[in-house]
Amino acid sequence: MKVVSDKVSLRKARASFKGTVGFVPTMGALHAGHASLVERSARDNDRTVVSIFVNPTQFGPKEDFSKYPRTLEADLALCRKAGADLVYTPATLYDKDHQTWIDVENVAAPLCGERRPGHFRGVATVVAKFFNLVQPTRVYFGQKDAQQAMLLTTMARELDFPLEVITCPTVREADGLAMSSRNRYLSPDERKRALVISRTLHAVQTLFDKGERDVDKLESVMESALGAEVDRVDYAEIRRWRDLGEIKMIEEPVLATIAVFVGNTRLIDNIVLTPKRGKLASRQGAKRPA
Ligand code: AMP
Repeated sequence: MKVVSDKVSLRKARASFKGTVGFVPTMGALHAGHASLVERSARDNDRTVVSIFVNPTQFGPKEDFSKYPRTLEADLALCRKAGADLVYTPATLYDKDHQTWIDVENVAAPLCGERRPGHFRGVATVVAKFFNLVQPTRVYFGQKDAQQAMLLTTMARELDFPLEVITCPTVREADGLAMSSRNRYLSPDERKRALVISRTLHAVQTLFDKGERDVDKLESVMESALGAEVDRVDYAEIRRWRDLGEIKMIEEPVLATIAVFVGNTRLIDNIVLTPKRGKLASRQGAKRPA
């Protein structure tokens, strides 16, 4: 596995690769969730490139950019074990007076986009730069950041990046907490309270499986379960899956999505709820009697 930190070496290493190239962009502090993306890429492609870069342009002025965990040696070991061929660790990626930005408008508007102004503009811009530098055949994102995955899928399609975007399932700790680089900020008490997030999503799934389709009802179940344990509910919403639009009743796949603060740490998680085809639909699909 090769490690490079400047654009010239990256382009040179990339040019030496024949066949398909998978790419996994990360901010480091890697865990089993990241490893699952690298492993998937290594299975699907001849070569796999990982980037490790804590991207300043996606952090707000009061967010955790300066204290974001940086664990390069352990990250490189994880990349090696997961099957990466090349790791790109730039110190910086922007000109001092960088002035070109990508705004994906509608997908970035609600949820994390509304609460973290400028965040998705920073994400889209840095990922577009990586796409141009790495020129991957396939790129891998986690469902854990569902809005981000949706945004980057939209960007790749609308800007004609010649690559395939693949979204991979959320990897969880044994007790259900979604893995996140930010979990290491949590005190033991906060870590325990953070479990309410996956528990709440599980409860929503159960209610949905029993037939509940009313979004207001499900959202108020989420609000009250979370409110009892976390320090602030940033949002707890059910949105149409295909475009994150608002709905009243669940009649098509939706995202049940949560962002909360536990202590000073902001955590997110989500699940997709998919209504089964109704009796009518399956009867229509069945073979007609002669
Ligand atoms: P980050 O380092 O937080 O920017 O994440 C890099 C990539 O890893 C993103 O595509 C994330 O969605 C993905 N990722 C982060 N946590 C998980 C997880 N628990 N399961 C699956 N993918 C994840």
